[in-house]
Amino acid sequence: MTDRTEHFRIEQLDDGLYAAIATEDGFGLCNAGIVDLGGTTLVFDAMLTPQAGTALGRAAERLTGAPVGLLVNSHYHGDHVRGNAAVGAVHVVSTARVRDLIAERGPVHLRSDTEEAARELARLRSGELAVGERERRVFEGWFEGILATPKELELRTPDLTFASEMVVHGRRRTARLLTFGGGHSPSDVLLQLPDERVVFLGDLLSVGFHPSLMDGDPEELVRILGQVRELGADRALPGHGPVSPGTSVREMERYVSGMLARARRARERGLSREEFGAVPAEPPFDRWTFSQFFADNSRFVYDWLGRPRPTTA
Ligand SMILES: [Zn+2]
Repeated sequence: MTDRTEHFRIEQLDDGLYAAIATEDGFGLCNAGIVDLGGTTLVFDAMLTPQAGTALGRAAERLTGAPVGLLVNSHYHGDHVRGNAAVGAVHVVSTARVRDLIAERGPVHLRSDTEEAARELARLRSGELAVGERERRVFEGWFEGILATPKELELRTPDLTFASEMVVHGRRRTARLLTFGGGHSPSDVLLQLPDERVVFLGDLLSVGFHPSLMDGDPEELVRILGQVRELGADRALPGHGPVSPGTSVREMERYVSGMLARARRARERGLSREEFGAVPAEPPFDRWTFSQFFADNSRFVYDWLGRPRPTTA
């Protein structure tokens, strides 16, 4: 088969183990993983649209020669689950919290995203939304993908849920699904392939793209990334960006813990939310795509530190 569709390109990580890396201008937006378990296939994340999900399910079956038995959702965000039904898996697996969030927020977010995508695409095309060339391609694919998604899309929810860990003992290899809680989102799931020393991290890891911290808990995210590092993986598949060495988890941790530390100092020095939000990103993050997320993240973390905390008696 060709190792590329309009939505993603396939990168082989090992025998029977693949990453589907979202193309810049396709309707995939997030990365996915494909695991040949021996007689059945596991797909990790379903991408932004049914179009990309369909292509992903077909690619998985052709690469492994086996039907997709399990689809894993790393978290409930639309760019990871809207392909759920289209992948054609026998079962969809995640935490009960992810299942609830897809059911509760999925249809609401699809409606609001559709309105926003139409508005932002018009701003992009009129030049009002000024971004770099690469960013422009990613945004166009993202907004067009949302607009190409049927408004009444069936958001298939996970039918198998687990609390902290689920191990799939395939004939060919073992895959371990884990959650350490919620950091990027209220509940984040990752997949570990212990023998291959590979992890699929969803949006717990972003490489070359600013992560979005705004639906999560930055302090929990730092703690979770520490636990991820203890898994000792050599290679990590991020939700956005290329397959990267395990050390990229440390860089993501620095992004979040650095922002927390700077926001604490800014509050101590009496900087306003807007003043802190205007501070530019430092290297290497100043070159990352989705550059405007940096200011959004800064303001979010500033506000987040000022939230009332539950007091312990
Ligand atoms: Zn996300």
